[in-house]
Amino acid sequence: MKRKLVVGNWKMNGDRARNSALLDQFLGAMPAGVDVAVCPPFAYLSQVGEILSGSAVVLGAQDVSEFHDGAYTGDVSVTMLADWGVRLVIVGHSERRALHGESDTVVARKAAAALDGGIVPIVCIGETLAERESGVTEQVLLRQLDALAANLSPELLQRIVLAYEPVWAIGTGRAATVEQVQAVLGFVRRWLARHLSAPERIRILYGGSVKPETANGLFGLPDADGGLIGGASLDAQSFLEICRAAT
Ligand code: PEP
Repeated sequence: MKRKLVVGNWKMNGDRARNSALLDQFLGAMPAGVDVAVCPPFAYLSQVGEILSGSAVVLGAQDVSEFHDGAYTGDVSVTMLADWGVRLVIVGHSERRALHGESDTVVARKAAAALDGGIVPIVCIGETLAERESGVTEQVLLRQLDALAANLSPELLQRIVLAYEPVWAIGTGRAATVEQVQAVLGFVRRWLARHLSAPERIRILYGGSVKPETANGLFGLPDADGGLIGGASLDAQSFLEICRAAT
C-alpha cells in the first residue's frame, strides 16, 4: 500500500509568530506512517523551511511560474523554489484558476516547469457547482486532465500528484460525500490507466472542507491517497487529527 500524503495549504494566511506556534505544536506530535507537507505563502518559505529542517515534514509552495526567468513581475520560478528547499508545489488551485485566469494549458505548463526543476507538482482539478449540477463533471475533469497529457510526456506525467478538489467544496464547509469522491477518483484512475503503465503509483488526493470528522471516511476510499487541506491545516490540533486518519 502507498503511504498517504497530507498537504496543508495555508493560502494567504499566517505571520511569523503564528507560523512558528502552529509548527511547534504540530511537529511535537506529528504521527509516523504518513507523508506530510505544508505550503506556506512565498513570504514565509524561508522561515518555515528553517523550522522544518531536520523534521519529516516537506516544504511545499502554492504556485510556480511556467517560465524559468525573465520579465514576469511578481512571479516565482522553480529554481527559486528549489533554492528555498521546496520539494512540492500546488499548481492549478481553483482560486488561481478563477482569480488569476489560469487556463488548463497554463496549469499544465506550470506542472512541466516544476518537474523540469526537480519539484513535484500537485495538480488540482475539479468542477464548479454549476458544472456538477448540469451533469458535465466528467467532461470538465477530462478537459483538465487531457491538457496535462498534451503537455507532459508519460515519463513526466508519472511523477505528478493529482488533487481532486470540487470547487463547491473548497472553504465552504460542505465536503463532497464519499460516494461522490470515489466516483471521481475512480474516473481519474481509469484516465491514468489509459496514459500510463503504472497508474496505481500516482497519488490522488481529495481536497475540499476536509475536517477531522470526515477524514477517516475519505482516506478509506479505494482510490484516495491522502488529502489537500486548507482551513483545517491552520489549526495544529485539527491538522494532526487529519494526518493521524491517514496513517
Ligand atoms: C484548499 O484550499 O485546497 C482546500 C481544500 O481548502 P479547504 O480545506 O479550506 O476547503
